[in-house]
Amino acid sequence: MIFHLLSRLSAKVPSVVYRAALIMKPQVVFVLGGPGAGKGTQCARIVENYSYTHLSAGDLLRAERSREGSEFGQLIDSYIKDGKIVPVEITINLLRKAMEETMEMDEKKFRFLIDGFPRNEDNLQGWTTVMEGKANVKFVLFFDCTSEVCIDRCLERGKSSGRTDDNRASLEKRIQTYLQSTRPIISLYEKQGKVRTVDASCGVDEVFDNVKAILDKEG
Ligand code: ADP
Ligand code: AMP
Repeated sequence: MIFHLLSRLSAKVPSVVYRAALIMKPQVVFVLGGPGAGKGTQCARIVENYSYTHLSAGDLLRAERSREGSEFGQLIDSYIKDGKIVPVEITINLLRKAMEETMEMDEKKFRFLIDGFPRNEDNLQGWTTVMEGKANVKFVLFFDCTSEVCIDRCLERGKSSGRTDDNRASLEKRIQTYLQSTRPIISLYEKQGKVRTVDASCGVDEVFDNVKAILDKEG
């Protein structure tokens, strides 16, 4: 009898483990910093070295803008050119969908770098409404550098990126948006002890050394 019970239990163990992984809550690191601070560059390095999936709010919005039949294409286009923050209803749904699709394809992929979010109060409220309790925000990885460095890097990137917002006129607006809307969100997380700041003004390798130190410590 006992043998029978034990063998039934052991048969169930793998499926219990599998289901525990399936219901694993997404573990999220928000990645913030000025335009061109190097968020995308460092996220790519992190993905190569750690088990994170990189989701960039900007990339998701650009993909939605180009998607045939998208009802938001034109709206996103004008917001991006103006360096304004797209309404959160659009962005949060793109993020939620991308997270769900990633986890559905591979249940082990539950660690996310969410790059360029939350960028303002509206983003934060949208996150709280849609994702509170459904994902754990571990910390905010903040790439800190001056506006001058940001502008120089974006102008350099603009020579080949084909982006409609890597030009001086858009950049001035993007920097204003960053200073007025995103910095206060970073300060809010700072008060909660959730910000890990990296000096983003040095070279890519040096920045990544600092990122590694943070990720290795955070586990
Ligand atoms: P973000 O995602 O923050 O907008 P990117 O990662 O796209 O920024 O970087 C903006 C530009 O600056 C890119 O052309 C990139 O190659 C360059 N870049 C990124 N990090 C550094 C760095 N530490 N030093 C110099 N150039 C950098
Ligand atoms: P990025 O690729 O991060 O430089 O973002 C480019 C542009 O996409 C921004 O200037 C905004 O217009 C838009 N964008 C990116 N992230 C967000 C976000 N979290 N909420 C709304 N709009 C965003």
